[in-house]
Amino acid sequence: MVREVVIIGSGPAGYTAAVYTSRAQLDPLVFAGSLSGGQLMLTTDVENYPGFPEGVMGPDLMESFRKQAERFGAEVVYEDVIEVDFSSHPYKVKSTAQEVEAKTVIISTGASAKLLGLEAESRLMGHGVSTCATCDGFFFRGQEIAIVGGGDSAMEEATFLTRFADKVTVIHRRDSLRASKIMQQKAFDNPKIEFLWDSAITEVLEKDGKVSGLEVENLKTHEKSTLELTGLFVAIGHTPNTQLFEGQLDLHENGYMKTHDGVKTTVEGVFACGDVQDFTYRQAVTAAGTGCMAAIDAERWLEHQQS
Ligand code: NAP
Repeated sequence: MVREVVIIGSGPAGYTAAVYTSRAQLDPLVFAGSLSGGQLMLTTDVENYPGFPEGVMGPDLMESFRKQAERFGAEVVYEDVIEVDFSSHPYKVKSTAQEVEAKTVIISTGASAKLLGLEAESRLMGHGVSTCATCDGFFFRGQEIAIVGGGDSAMEEATFLTRFADKVTVIHRRDSLRASKIMQQKAFDNPKIEFLWDSAITEVLEKDGKVSGLEVENLKTHEKSTLELTGLFVAIGHTPNTQLFEGQLDLHENGYMKTHDGVKTTVEGVFACGDVQDFTYRQAVTAAGTGCMAAIDAERWLEHQQS
């Protein structure tokens, strides 16, 4: 059996594409992956997703997405896709458990925020550690927090976070920033932002299951010090999950999927939506929006093939 639509990935983009394609009676198969749900599974409260005036927990929101897709007949399997072949039609998608043929493929494999690799960092994700200032800044009103990184994201987020926090310490491993001059200047001019240069975070400290401070090492003197604070934002870049498609679809220099005319990739009938192709907005709601676009484009493409 050749599937009409196969969706790879199960964040807001993938599940939205599943809701739309299942309602269009295209019986989508969703490869949700062994770690399903995408980046929202790593957050606690989500207060900026429209339609939830009281906010919603990230994992709960993703469960609702999945249930909504399944209600209309989407088949969700928790398998990782290990190989795709877009060289001939129908396309082939191989997971850890099966190989399927598909007339259209929607790629929504997302991006992963890079982490420092400290054990407590992952454990305290959503409990003081965050990779998204837009999502979580609001929870740090009147508090002292830190952000690690020296790029545009770190400067933009540090500046944004001063709307809420009393003090934001930027911890950077070198003595000069990678960020553009204009973003640097904005951060330097902000009285609530302080810089800790040539420094690496060696430990995230915890009290009662929440962040209580950081252990920091000066990389030049190797002196260690402790910062008391309640939040750590990690802004050291993202890695788009595009390795599977290298050599078959065009990617930008930074590794993100190239799309044109909305969400079309360089192969006919293959669409990409959500963070895998978005290095600008990276929001759940924008991912869901592009998931809808991919579903509608897939439906139209299939219709066009039949006529
Ligand atoms: P980025 O430019 O790659 O910067 C990452 C920063 O994190 C660098 O300062 C890097 O240090 C540091 N870093 C990386 N790994 C680290 C580690 N293991 N430990 C400690 N520090 C580490 O990433 P980005 O800031 O997310 O920006 C990505 C792209 O989006 C860039 O092209 C940027 O210009 C763009 N962007 C633009 C805007 C805007 O214009 N409004 C906003 C956000 C992002 P080193 O400097 O020492 O390498």
